[in-house]
Amino acid sequence: MNLMIKVGYGMVILFLLVGCQKEDQLSSGLVDEALQPFLEAFESEGLARNYQPVFSTDLVHMRLDTLPNSVTGQCKTYSDGRKEVVVSSAFWAQATFYEKEFLVFHELGHCILDRVHTESTNDRGQCNSIMHSGQGTCRNIYGAGTRRAYLDELFYYE
Ligand SMILES: [Zn+2]
Repeated sequence: MNLMIKVGYGMVILFLLVGCQKEDQLSSGLVDEALQPFLEAFESEGLARNYQPVFSTDLVHMRLDTLPNSVTGQCKTYSDGRKEVVVSSAFWAQATFYEKEFLVFHELGHCILDRVHTESTNDRGQCNSIMHSGQGTCRNIYGAGTRRAYLDELFYYE
């Protein structure tokens, strides 16, 4: 996140804005193609729940990269307000579909929905939200059978 990187991104964004005026579209060349389907799923699941996000192409950056220690994903906020989801390429290489979706939706929960962590737990010790930190004690049961309820919570949490 040094100055060179910021300047580099700034130039890329300027180019995209000049070349494409669709600022309200999620899709952009700044999203890694491996992550793109998950971003599109996030958008469609949000829209299906009447969530009306203010998306812009210069807000959503997503890439795979090396992350320190056991960090699997991050939502970075830059000084100019832009945000970027970085997903661990090592994690991505071995994760299942639902592990990938959980991680991307969690990070987009930070970056797009401005959600913070919650360790809220049901009476069986299961996490009530995909916005749990992973550092707490609740058990993550995100999967085919729980996806709908978790996404309802994600987009309806207010
Ligand atoms: Zn988080």
